[in-house]
Amino acid sequence: MNTDCPECTAIAALVANEGASVTIFCGAADFGGSSSAIGVTDDWTGWEPRTFYGDEVLDCLHKAMAEKKARASPKVRRLAIVAVLDATEGTP
Ligand SMILES: [Zn+2]
Repeated sequence: MNTDCPECTAIAALVANEGASVTIFCGAADFGGSSSAIGVTDDWTGWEPRTFYGDEVLDCLHKAMAEKKARASPKVRRLAIVAVLDATEGTP
């Protein structure tokens, strides 16, 4: 992977989970106003391909990364609450 390349870096982040995939669609297709589209399949998409649109492939990748982050955060918050509860347990 070329880490200087923003597209490669974003794709690597999106396929970090085993079984995840990113599909880059041909820009010649009509995406209803957007010139680029990608498909992402991962646990946070329910293992169904989810399509993201943008002017450039990188825009699509960034939208997918933002969505992945947004979907991951409730779990992180729950873990944080559990950690707080654990910390208060046993205190008089
Ligand atoms: Zn690249």
